[in-house]
Amino acid sequence: MRNTLMTDSLILGIDLGTTNSLAAVMTPGGPEIIRDARGAALVPSVIAFVDGEVTVGLEARAHAVENPTATVYSVKRLMGKSIEDLTSDLAVLPYEVVPGRNDTVCVKVQGREMTPQELSAIILRDIKARAETARGQEISRAVITVPAYFDDSQRQATRDAGRIAGLEVCRIVNEPTAAALAYGLDRSEDACIAVYDLGGGTFDVSILRVSGGVFEVLSTQGDTQLGGDDLDRELINLLTGEIRREFGEELTFPPATRQALRTFAEATKVRLSTESDATVEVDLGAGRLFRRTITRDEFESLAVRWIDHTIEHCARALRDAGLGPKDIDQVVMVGGSTRVPMVCRKTGEFFGREPYTAVNPDEVVALGAAVQAGILAGIKRDTLLLDVTPLSLGIETLGGAVGKLIMRNSTVPCQATETFSTYVDGQTAVDIHVLQGERELAKDCRSLGKFQLTGVPPMPAGAPRVQVTFLLDANGILDVSARELRSGQAASVQITPAHGLTRDEVDSMVRDSYARAVEDLNAHRLIDLRNESARILAAIEKAIETAGDVLTPQQRQTLDAAVGDLKTKREGEDCDAVYEAMGAANDAAMPLTRAQMDDVLSKTIKGRKMDEV
Ligand code: AMP
Repeated sequence: MRNTLMTDSLILGIDLGTTNSLAAVMTPGGPEIIRDARGAALVPSVIAFVDGEVTVGLEARAHAVENPTATVYSVKRLMGKSIEDLTSDLAVLPYEVVPGRNDTVCVKVQGREMTPQELSAIILRDIKARAETARGQEISRAVITVPAYFDDSQRQATRDAGRIAGLEVCRIVNEPTAAALAYGLDRSEDACIAVYDLGGGTFDVSILRVSGGVFEVLSTQGDTQLGGDDLDRELINLLTGEIRREFGEELTFPPATRQALRTFAEATKVRLSTESDATVEVDLGAGRLFRRTITRDEFESLAVRWIDHTIEHCARALRDAGLGPKDIDQVVMVGGSTRVPMVCRKTGEFFGREPYTAVNPDEVVALGAAVQAGILAGIKRDTLLLDVTPLSLGIETLGGAVGKLIMRNSTVPCQATETFSTYVDGQTAVDIHVLQGERELAKDCRSLGKFQLTGVPPMPAGAPRVQVTFLLDANGILDVSARELRSGQAASVQITPAHGLTRDEVDSMVRDSYARAVEDLNAHRLIDLRNESARILAAIEKAIETAGDVLTPQQRQTLDAAVGDLKTKREGEDCDAVYEAMGAANDAAMPLTRAQMDDVLSKTIKGRKMDEV
């Protein structure tokens, strides 16, 4: 029998996007994205009509190349619009758009006319079915997001699409408001928020004011024809220009090569979000291979004019709201293209504060829609208010221990810095694993994220100085940065530590840490002793190599025995035994240490007068 109560209480949060759509639901642990069996969340907002069958998503997108007139995408651009409104869009859409009733449009596929609402409903029905499969229950209600600039007729069309899909649309929510909700900014007291949304083909920025949990859109600006695709196009133009210069100006690019170039360009752009360069190889047939390495600097010189356009829109949005950059309290990043580092950098510079990027920019709107859905369904928002941080924050150190930087119950905002070093000679990368919890071992804490500091110049173990800084702001957003002080190499990550943790879960994590305090401290001590003994063993080995011959056979035998004993004891679990064996090894190595010190001293003194020494 169906559980009516469950069915009624669950409301789906849907981000119905121009390029991709996805959904999320509110759970007791916080908002959760709906994923298919393979873990995928994004459903391309594409519908294909093939042999009387309708397909949606990835499968439909695969038809776009061979079946362009029967593959419909970007329906969102048509919602609530008349044919006159759409002149610039129509030139680029490969399917047929015809005038509909009452100043609207229809899409004509294989002789059949369909309204944008009906087409959007096909996507929504698919999203609904995926969510029902994932949750194992029927879902009949939804919150759907729309851009802040959508007018009444566009909002009404979206509502109708939901109804046609068999969903009661409880609320239409502005996308920027949803993004702010996903970051818990509804709890801010009287704050101004800028939401910067750069997707594949569209850009918009909204200025919101939140007060007492109520959001007001003060202004919105944007360009419905600006996005990541423009950055791809810059790279395609660079590549085709150079290919022609290398292989002849008359060279033409058949559709398959053009498609390959587009794929390479996008992949290169994505690589350059994390790497400093990326190499493209294009096989042009007839033994012609084009190879080119593009640096991030070069890509940024192509991207900068597009990004500057978005910043001009930000300035206009602020002006419309009657505000200046200093009035903005938070900046929230939305859309896949905000992963381009220059986008965040320029936006941060303009608003004079670091933007929020901790929540996946593809998922942040759907998560916020689920938060709104949760509020409407009466699910209490039991996620945490961060006036104090409920759990300690730290990083994993050698051997799986935790180095805590911010202790539980610290008032926020707060900051902590510690310096670490390497344990291996010539180590050029350092993994930073950010953890939350009270336990002493990394495996017993909650993993919040990992990142790598690369490009550390090779140095002996212990020589690099890696300064790790934790900055927890008043909204609970944690910024972790790592900098190697000798080389200046730096890397960072942003995290929302409280995301999805309920009061009960926090309490149980704290209770666990008390219950296991003794056991945990012993485990931590054992790791420290093992690390220290490894350092001692390596130093003894080095000293034997350089000064081993100073030892008498008897001293050597004692040292070998002490080293052997320490090696055995450090494999065991007995902290005191390791500690004692460490002392014995140190004592046995004393003649060696003394000989090395004498050697250093004699080198220092050599050739100098007594009163100089
Ligand atoms: P959206 O419309 O929000 O789904 O964003 C899609 C756009 O984000 C496309 O232009 C993608 O190429 C771009 N994008 C996705 N991931 C990255 C990344 N890691 N770096 C740069 N651009 C990305």
